[in-house]
Amino acid sequence: MATEKTLSDAFYEALKDVYFAERTSVRALKKAAKAAKHPELKQALEKHGEESAEQVERLQQVFEIFGKAARGKTCEAIQGLMAEMEEHLEDFKDSEASDAVLIGSAQAMEHYEIARYGMLKSWAQQLGLKDAADLLEQTLNEEKNADQLLTELAESSANQQAA
Ligand code: ZN
Ligand code: FE
Ligand code: FE
Ligand code: FE
Repeated sequence: MATEKTLSDAFYEALKDVYFAERTSVRALKKAAKAAKHPELKQALEKHGEESAEQVERLQQVFEIFGKAARGKTCEAIQGLMAEMEEHLEDFKDSEASDAVLIGSAQAMEHYEIARYGMLKSWAQQLGLKDAADLLEQTLNEEKNADQLLTELAESSANQQAA
């Protein structure tokens, strides 16, 4: 039997999940920036941390457009990714591979965000929430840029340092 849940319900649930995940990513990026050794990597992580704080505000605007109070709901996925990052940091902290491992963990979080913001943007379009879709696309592009920059830093230095 089909229930009465709609795409609009799914959108709201996903928005709460991403709101939680984005706030978690701000904390994760602070931790990652502190642990990074290469100055360029440190700077990139700090910058994306600041950008992520703006993404949290952008999500609050999306809630407003949607007509609901901004609320988070535990995202097990980001918690798991952050726990994994902490474990890797601990295991590799004194090694030459620490930045390479750190970049890998940070990118796992970016990829999760890319998946979620891509989905939310499509759903917002489908629901006729054009302004929300535009805000979500802006964040999606920032996540993609952050991911791309991390790939460049890995390939230009961290991986060689590690090898
Ligand atoms: Zn995030
Ligand atoms: Fe983000
Ligand atoms: Fe989630
Ligand atoms: Fe991000």
